[in-house]
Amino acid sequence: MAHIRDLIAGGPTLSFEFFPPKTDEGQRSLEKAIGELDLLEPSFVSVTYGAGGSTRERTRDIVVGITATHDYPAMAHLTCIGHTRAEIEELLADYAANGVHNILALAGDPPVDGSPATGDFRYASELVQLIRSVGDFSVGVAAFPEVHPRSETNREDRAHLAAKMAQADFAITQFFFDPVPFLRLRDDLDRLGCATPLLPGIIPVLNPASVRRFADLNGARVPPRFWSRLEAATPDERVELAVEHAVELVSELVAEGVPGVHLYTLNRADASARIAGAFRLGA
Ligand code: FAD
Repeated sequence: MAHIRDLIAGGPTLSFEFFPPKTDEGQRSLEKAIGELDLLEPSFVSVTYGAGGSTRERTRDIVVGITATHDYPAMAHLTCIGHTRAEIEELLADYAANGVHNILALAGDPPVDGSPATGDFRYASELVQLIRSVGDFSVGVAAFPEVHPRSETNREDRAHLAAKMAQADFAITQFFFDPVPFLRLRDDLDRLGCATPLLPGIIPVLNPASVRRFADLNGARVPPRFWSRLEAATPDERVELAVEHAVELVSELVAEGVPGVHLYTLNRADASARIAGAFRLGA
């Protein structure tokens, strides 16, 4: 199966992110969303991983299943905090044996109760090094335009990110709501001599309460005017507003020459298909 680094080199890419559902009904929605989004001919898709391995089997089965039945690659997200080196090596060997050659290497989050993280890893860069040492994987990493919330200073975070990206093939960003933080990150990386492709992650805000919770956790600034319009909208109006806002953001990013667009689908095809359609038409 293709390496994402080669797809990006021939870009621009279009990619969709899914999460492993917990119920049979969720599984059916995921399959429906994948089927509908197939029509947009994505360059690749990705499947998230529950921190500490809580979705280890489900993520693996979805990624392997998509790889076996589609022409495009499915990338496995993989977090390292809480895992041993042997556990990660075993999972990577299984992926390679099943034709999965693209991994998004992440730290994940330490335990929420504040207890010290167990396992052999602390930072995503250590996972990137391990993946590089065991096989021919294309490796992506996460980037935070508005600075990672565990960072003490912007400067240190950018320096760690640039060093991590130098070992990786590409990075995908946390979502953001206006182009400025993304462009600032791109300029900072440029100044630090980092030329690794940076894909913007875009989320359609279909559920403002849950997106705000994630935004607060991840330090993403929520534009107050857009938010008050969303909160006052009916469910149908909200979909229109979310799509309109995301299409506008994507079109500004495309004008800035981004190497692709990564959509957080939340396992629903409707809004993502419309945003992706506009991107394909050169939004
Ligand atoms: P790192 O790159 O390790 O950075 C974490 C913190 O450590 C930062 O503050 C950084 O500045 C600092 N740091 C890095 N290196 C050093 C160093 N050498 N010395 C000192 N400080 C350092 N989480 C999941 O659980 N599952 C998923 O599937 C998932 N998918 C994601 C997909 C994307 C596109 C993004 C953007 C995030 C995703 N996350 C996921 C969230 C991610 O795991 C968390 O945000 C996590 O807290 C940080 O992960 P990281 O890989 O950016 O960590």
